[in-house]
Amino acid sequence: MEDRALGETVEVSRSRRHAYLIVLVVLPPVVLLAAVAVVWGRAVGPLDVLLALVMYAVNIFGISVGYHRLLTHRSFRCPRPVRVTFALAGALALQGPPTLWAAEHRRHHKYSDQPGDPHSPWAYGDSGFALVRGLLHAQVGWFYSARRRSNRAHWVPDLIADPDIRRVDAAYPAIVAASFLVPAAAGGLLSWSWAGFWTALFWAGLVRYAVVHHITWSVNSVAHCFGDRAFATRDRSSNVRWVALLTFGEGWHNWHHIEPTSARHGVLKGQVDPSAGLIRLLERLGCAHDVHWPSPARIETQASRHREESRRAAPVTRGGHVDAG
Ligand SMILES: [Zn+2]
Ligand SMILES: [Zn+2]
Repeated sequence: MEDRALGETVEVSRSRRHAYLIVLVVLPPVVLLAAVAVVWGRAVGPLDVLLALVMYAVNIFGISVGYHRLLTHRSFRCPRPVRVTFALAGALALQGPPTLWAAEHRRHHKYSDQPGDPHSPWAYGDSGFALVRGLLHAQVGWFYSARRRSNRAHWVPDLIADPDIRRVDAAYPAIVAASFLVPAAAGGLLSWSWAGFWTALFWAGLVRYAVVHHITWSVNSVAHCFGDRAFATRDRSSNVRWVALLTFGEGWHNWHHIEPTSARHGVLKGQVDPSAGLIRLLERLGCAHDVHWPSPARIETQASRHREESRRAAPVTRGGHVDAG
């Protein structure tokens, strides 16, 4: 799977892979199971839910608009404070520092669903068990199984050259702590109790982090496997409505692989894309410029090309016989 040519990857140490195993693979489902156990005995308070929802929205927009559309694909430009805010919001989602996230993701686009893709659900083949194994690999397995990760010097020299992004990278351990302590402190202060601190730490800290992780990773697994495809890409990227809803537009993944720099992923009728809506709002407020909005003519050209290819590939019935040509 790994392409070692061109200095594209660097080795991952054994201890780091074990850290990934704990933080990225094992801990989130354990936390979610614990959440179920806690709810069983005692209902979650409205303040916990509110704080968790705020953190969820900050994280999902931070990943979708910040890490993904702004930093990885440069689909718009914005003033420095806005760029730093989005980088911080993305880092608060605890999916790694911005340069690492963007490096892995740019490699995903270069090799999508081919050898070299860090997280394709088709890595082990198309059939039954191989696909289940592939889906687990795309969801979380690759964090542990990958013996090499993307070389940041190769994939994101633009981000490394940005002093603000370097500072966010360096501050990542402190941002991780803040991601738990800020909602916990808010819970404690707003309820003026230690109980409020601990329940907010649990719901808006731990449970929120686990949920945000698995919803984001669903784009890598589910939206490269299930759902519909309106455009012909060389990969298996697709559109999955529930993933799009929960990721604020990222689940409209098929167009994204046609035009990765597009600020809008949901380009077809009915494909609600709140992340594109936020970028549009920022543009109107003068906080975003040089936005790469998709051209309607190009969308139509790509959609009709796919329709034509599907028509040619589909079996045609002639006189009661199915003609595979
Ligand atoms: Zn993809
Ligand atoms: Zn992308």
